[in-house]
Amino acid sequence: MKLLLLPGDGIGPEVIAEARAVLEALALPGLEVAEAPFGGAAIDSDGVPLPEATKAAALSADAVLMGAVGGPQWASQPYDLRPEAGLLALRHAMGVFANLRPARLFPPLADASTLKPEVVEGLDILFVRELVGGVYFGEPRGIERLPSGERVGLNTQRYAEHEIVRVADVAFALARARGGHVTSVDKANVMESGLLWREVVTARQKERHPDVPLSHMLADSCAMELVRNPRRFDVILTDNLFGDLLSDLAAMLTGSLGMLPSAALGAPGAPGLYEPIHGSAPDIAGKGIANPCAAILSLAMALRHSLRRPDAADRVEAAVASALAGGARTRDLGGTLSTREMGTAIVAALAS
Ligand code: NAD
Repeated sequence: MKLLLLPGDGIGPEVIAEARAVLEALALPGLEVAEAPFGGAAIDSDGVPLPEATKAAALSADAVLMGAVGGPQWASQPYDLRPEAGLLALRHAMGVFANLRPARLFPPLADASTLKPEVVEGLDILFVRELVGGVYFGEPRGIERLPSGERVGLNTQRYAEHEIVRVADVAFALARARGGHVTSVDKANVMESGLLWREVVTARQKERHPDVPLSHMLADSCAMELVRNPRRFDVILTDNLFGDLLSDLAAMLTGSLGMLPSAALGAPGAPGLYEPIHGSAPDIAGKGIANPCAAILSLAMALRHSLRRPDAADRVEAAVASALAGGARTRDLGGTLSTREMGTAIVAALAS
């Protein structure tokens, strides 16, 4: 099995170094680990955010673990040559259409949520967001000038049936594995693309996944319910735009951005892309105070979903929980530990 690390920019290399320390402590036989330039770091070394060699290494790996990309020093690059454009290009090249974002509350962090502990205790939601279609990619798009001289900004929400079916299959399979249920979220009341989404998900469940309970919810109701009674949800299946917004909302129920991993999966057997949901955090980069948990939990997801080591994934997640239960906290969690000290606490918990 091959794991490619893409540390990227800002705090990316700092948190990936701790994920590497966890990997070394796990000492998994038969796992090859390589590293490649990506994002702003690759713009500096190779002139482009996604060098061909990095793309080729990603496509021939079993899993890719990324840190974060971006930063003010590359903000004036043309749009196509920004670090973030490299990430979109990598997702496209890897064909990762299903974005998995768990929003899980570690019990010692119940107080870190802005909601009351009794509302969020035991929270364990898995978002499955469609990642390569919908309004972020639909054509036509652009800014046009009307004959009157006025400008119009235009994006197109567009989903073909096969795009809905493949991401729905991922959501049903994950819900089955968790013994849970799927809530499919759309705006079928006002958008034709939502109407088709609902019809296709319903038909697919009847045809292939009748054992997994399915319900539907409008995206605006879902936003309210995530704050009112988030524990009613198990797996939430939704499109690119609603998934972007709702998964950020749910993520914050669990406390810090520094705790949240994600995965992006493509066709069965294709390499998965794993990354913390936070960015490169230029405000704290270089200070050694970033929380490495999201990167380490992203590694756990890679072990589970791409590297066929669910046992090692369980060990890593238990080590993070145990380090937190023992009081280990970086500053974003109200503690004083450095990135390195937090990583070391997790490695120590792994060994005990
Ligand atoms: P950000 O996630 O980088 O930071 C938001 C806030 O959260 C900051 O105050 C930061 O210090 C804090 N934070 C983030 N991760 C943390 C961690 N692990 N530990 C402790 N605190 C943490 O978002 P931003 O500031 O909006 O974006 C900064 C740059 O990152 C931009 O260039 C943006 O485009 C890029 N970005 C990249 C990704 C990605 O690589 N997938 C995602 C989001 C943003």
